[in-house]
Amino acid sequence: MNSAAMLNAYPDSLGGTLSDIASLLEQKELRGAFGSFYILPSVFTTDLDRGFSVISYDLDRRLTAPGDLDRLRALGLDLKLDFILNHLSVQSPQFRDLLEKGEQSPCRDFFINWNDFWAGRGQMTEGGWIQPDDMYIRDMFFRKPGLPILMVQFPDGREVPYWNTFYQEVKTDPATGERSYLGQMDVNVRSPLVWRYYEEVLDKLAGYGAAIVRLDAFGYASKIPGRRNFMNEPETWEILERIRGLAEKRGLTLLPEIHAAYGEGSFRTLAEKGFMTYDFFLPGLLIDAIENHDPRYLVRWAREQREGGIRCVSMLGCHDGIPMLDLKGLVPDDRIQGLIDLIVSRGGLIKNLHGKKNMYYQVNAAYFSALGCDERKLLLARALQLFMPGKPQVWYLDLFAGKNDLEAAARGGDAGHKEINRTNLTKEDIQSRLRLPVVQDQLKLLKIRSACEAFGFDAQMTADAPGPDRIRFVWENRGRKASLEADLTAYAFRLEAELPEGTAVFAQD
Ligand code: BGC
Repeated sequence: MNSAAMLNAYPDSLGGTLSDIASLLEQKELRGAFGSFYILPSVFTTDLDRGFSVISYDLDRRLTAPGDLDRLRALGLDLKLDFILNHLSVQSPQFRDLLEKGEQSPCRDFFINWNDFWAGRGQMTEGGWIQPDDMYIRDMFFRKPGLPILMVQFPDGREVPYWNTFYQEVKTDPATGERSYLGQMDVNVRSPLVWRYYEEVLDKLAGYGAAIVRLDAFGYASKIPGRRNFMNEPETWEILERIRGLAEKRGLTLLPEIHAAYGEGSFRTLAEKGFMTYDFFLPGLLIDAIENHDPRYLVRWAREQREGGIRCVSMLGCHDGIPMLDLKGLVPDDRIQGLIDLIVSRGGLIKNLHGKKNMYYQVNAAYFSALGCDERKLLLARALQLFMPGKPQVWYLDLFAGKNDLEAAARGGDAGHKEINRTNLTKEDIQSRLRLPVVQDQLKLLKIRSACEAFGFDAQMTADAPGPDRIRFVWENRGRKASLEADLTAYAFRLEAELPEGTAVFAQD
């Protein structure tokens, strides 16, 4: 896998359609900045959760035009696309078949009937769902408060609970009293039909020209009574191995997505098994290094990645919040709390995990706002990201110095907090922001990173702290060298990179 920088956006984030993004990337200001593009899953036919509730993997024709993907490929960009293996929308043909035919549907076992799953292991409630006995669920990991179920109506009028880990939207028409619902319905990984469907999805993604396939929320796929039902072992690894077999046949590299505390070491297990992994520590570590003027944790993590053969995709912001729980075990708890308090004091929104307030999962904020809308800090954070090990992913809103969108967050429904960092930019917004120094400078850094051969997963890299508030990186590969030295108190830095046409120098004084 190449380590070129990767743009990340929804198809409607930059101008309105994927064609608009292709046109933007064809503009001279953007050309040469990126080698890859992660298009979020609303590029498919989806409903809830801005794309993560897939109806089908056909492209959404309202957001994409024939030829868009060819235009992106012609720019030399490879694609990262999502494979949302844990769930499918209520509106998918598979779930609709189940709703239409009930027990007679061939998709009967495609999804997880909660009562069948827990039969004999709990008590039937008046509501019509089984409340599993405590011994079976006391260790279970809950993603949201209450049981993860959605009651759906079968053709005979019965209300039947189906497993639904993530979002749902239930509405009752005030006039007719009729209930309608949407939901991300968990699929049953034990069903051969599901595995046939998985192959179809991977065929489709390969057909779109995907190089990297992000395995969304894979840790929830294995479900077994009495277990944690998040990252069940060894079943989760068996599922991943089986998917890897299917992906490799199609020339696809998998990027499994998992949020877990550093202390749990899931990223290490993934790396040992030869998978790429997400660097969900970097967003918090960079804020820690910059705000506390302290390079220690960043240097430690950079070295650990190199020594442990850990190949990551890194980021500042992304479509979700700034990960905090992930830092547990890497950064002392009181320091994590300090970061949370700081980001919240700058307008960030807290999302706790299943109602427990002891450790916050993510803080929802635009990264620029999390850094106090300080352009020097944002540019320093970007430079550090580009010199950290890994493949740097760039959230479009960070590139364009977007700030917290509190109105959008207030307007949003269940997942409203996430909208704080998902503002769509119009073509006019983009063209005017392209004139901002903080945008131009990030593009300069990205172009240097993309053109310099010193970087790479197999390159030599050293990271050290030449002073209590200094950090230095040196990369060497293929006879080229690149270095960055930064002052974490003055937010000043200087980078040099050997390019084919000579040495590029960039400094923030
Ligand atoms: C995605 C989220 C999404 C969830 C369910 C994740 O990990 O990043 O945005 O809500 O999976 O698909």
